[in-house]
Amino acid sequence: MRIAVVNVPLRVPGDPTRWITVPPQGYGGIQWVVSHLVDGLLALGHEVHLLGAPGSHAGHPDLRVVDAAEPAEMRRWLRGNRVDIVHDHSNGRITPRDLPPGAAYCSTHHLTGAPEIGLNCVYVSGAQRAAARAGAAAPVIRLPVNPDRYRFRRDKKDYLLFLGRISAHKGALEAAAFARAAGVPAVLAGPAWEEEYATAIRRNSPGAELVGEVGGAERVELISDAAAVLVLSQPVTGPWGDLWCEPGATVVSEAAVSGTPVIATANGCLPEIVPGVGTLVPYGERFEPGYAESRLAALPSADRVRRRALARWDHVGVARRYTEVYRRIRDGESWS
Ligand code: UDP
Repeated sequence: MRIAVVNVPLRVPGDPTRWITVPPQGYGGIQWVVSHLVDGLLALGHEVHLLGAPGSHAGHPDLRVVDAAEPAEMRRWLRGNRVDIVHDHSNGRITPRDLPPGAAYCSTHHLTGAPEIGLNCVYVSGAQRAAARAGAAAPVIRLPVNPDRYRFRRDKKDYLLFLGRISAHKGALEAAAFARAAGVPAVLAGPAWEEEYATAIRRNSPGAELVGEVGGAERVELISDAAAVLVLSQPVTGPWGDLWCEPGATVVSEAAVSGTPVIATANGCLPEIVPGVGTLVPYGERFEPGYAESRLAALPSADRVRRRALARWDHVGVARRYTEVYRRIRDGESWS
């Protein structure tokens, strides 16, 4: 199939001349999902046109990176080119009205709450679909991960890693508290856009090291070396103004494919995806030392976590599921 994949076009924070690429230079969950999915679609022999991420490295004969990021440019390209399916990850920056003649439309919802456009929308977890009040006809397809983009490691170092926005809804403070209770170092990596919150962590969590936003080899090493990744998302107001309901948690599959187990709360998708690759702990920041130590001791082995990750999130399997969805839509099926 000829597939137009539309990434969410976002500029690199602090540098209006550059776009966040696919894969992203640093922080970027949607851009990683798009990257892994494109890898999977290419592995299945599809031809992919990537919009919304100019400057990305194509690196494959069947991948074309289109120089279009502003919605008007993307619409112009879509109207002038023939593809079989347009798969939108841009959270509604293009609409089904913008399709090339004869093309089918589907989207993946990456946010919390209801999507801008419900037509042929795929959800990344049951919790996200329920929060969007979408019906059972709307498919749930897990986030993909390409194992070749990560490093599997058995012998772990002793630190616990938080990798994400340093924000209240992502539970960075609680991650530092858990590590402190367990008596191990915490490494907190990610952009600290809410400066007051980061300052509070620095003040209250002397053992936690905030290393800033990471990318490239440093990010891969941090994930594979960690004893566990902490995903302690909290039910507080999120970046889009509603109660945070973790939609897909990219970082869980990234950790698991690296053989790194996950310690998570039961927020949003996490109870669906963490069992088997980690353990669930309560909300909040009050952890007894004995409890935190016992959670760490009960984590599954690196080999087991990696095996589960490949069965659950391998990018080719996920791309196959999307290909089935594309076929159904081209055969006339639709849902909203
Ligand atoms: N990430 C990164 N560098 C950082 C912090 C995060 O590359 O310094 C990546 C992380 O590996 C993940 C993504 O950003 O792929 C965050 O996505 P996730 O779904 O975990 O969180 P959200 O999209 O809700 O912020």
